[in-house]
Amino acid sequence: MSVRVEQFVLRTLRIFPRRTNATPDDELAIVNRMPELWNEADTVQVSVTFEWDKPRGEALAEQWQVVAPVEVGGPAYGDPGGEFVPGQFLRHGYTITSRGCPNKCPRCKVPEREGALRLLPIRDGHDVLDNNLLACQRKHIEAVFQMLKKQKHRPKFTGGLEAARLRPWHVEWLLRLKPETLWMAYDRPGEWEPLRAAVRMLADAGIVAPHRKKRTGAYVLMGWRGDTPEAAEKRLRSVIYELQIKTQAMWLDNGAESRPEDAQAWRDLRKRYTDAASVGAMIAEAWQQCPPFRSVPRTEPSAAAKARAPVRISGGRKQSANVGTPTLEEWVRQNAR
Ligand code: SF4
Repeated sequence: MSVRVEQFVLRTLRIFPRRTNATPDDELAIVNRMPELWNEADTVQVSVTFEWDKPRGEALAEQWQVVAPVEVGGPAYGDPGGEFVPGQFLRHGYTITSRGCPNKCPRCKVPEREGALRLLPIRDGHDVLDNNLLACQRKHIEAVFQMLKKQKHRPKFTGGLEAARLRPWHVEWLLRLKPETLWMAYDRPGEWEPLRAAVRMLADAGIVAPHRKKRTGAYVLMGWRGDTPEAAEKRLRSVIYELQIKTQAMWLDNGAESRPEDAQAWRDLRKRYTDAASVGAMIAEAWQQCPPFRSVPRTEPSAAAKARAPVRISGGRKQSANVGTPTLEEWVRQNAR
């Protein structure tokens, strides 16, 4: 990224210790390598996202000092983040429209690092990485949705939407936006019921489907002190088989709190529940075992009403409203493991 200072343009190289889907790919972005003879710059910025990459980031900083003065920073160093510049530290397509979070979930570093929720100018992008977009004021959220509507790509909510804050007006917008991916989280037991209610709302709107390009999912945090691979797998499976949405295992701090003797089991679990093919196969199985869940009727419909019940859409699939489709509660009861 070049920075213009009066008449001069500063050439800044950005160095990343590892490549991820979000790493920029322009010519001034360099991933995990030493300087080469022809590398020239006025400044070098080493950006480290993950705590466990700090040693590598610091080694890179030392190596690149021969080229230009180096700054090391990024989320791993508690950088609260300023205004979002598309393409600078995240590949074009990603956007961040707010930083911070009003919640204080245990083990989450966001409130400590970024502080209270603050709104940023809305920059173009289709993959929203805000920590908690739904905690923002309605005017801001609607402006973000308007921006998403104008993008060439279907939106993704990779940063996650807080299930407990999902309201019908968000769902109405989501119906219009047709997101390609929408993530929520099931990190703590208290999040199960809000997640279930949110999935129900989305399923009723047809936003939950088994297809790869139309999948709602929930990240599942695992590996805190006292957690076991068996307990974590149960949580992961409950997301897939009870809610019929995809999941992704998030191993807390890359195993910093896990017992060393369990390390391999945790790695295997992470592999199984981050691999798109393996998670996709489980979702297909879950949808085969049970039709998508529908809202529990408030009252039992009359026989006449049952007889004329129209075909309704639930969870993106056509089904009869009254013949044999179990509710989520019924299905879970029948399939209690
Ligand atoms: S809602 Fe998400 S970002 Fe906010 S504190 Fe909880 S885990 Fe962290």
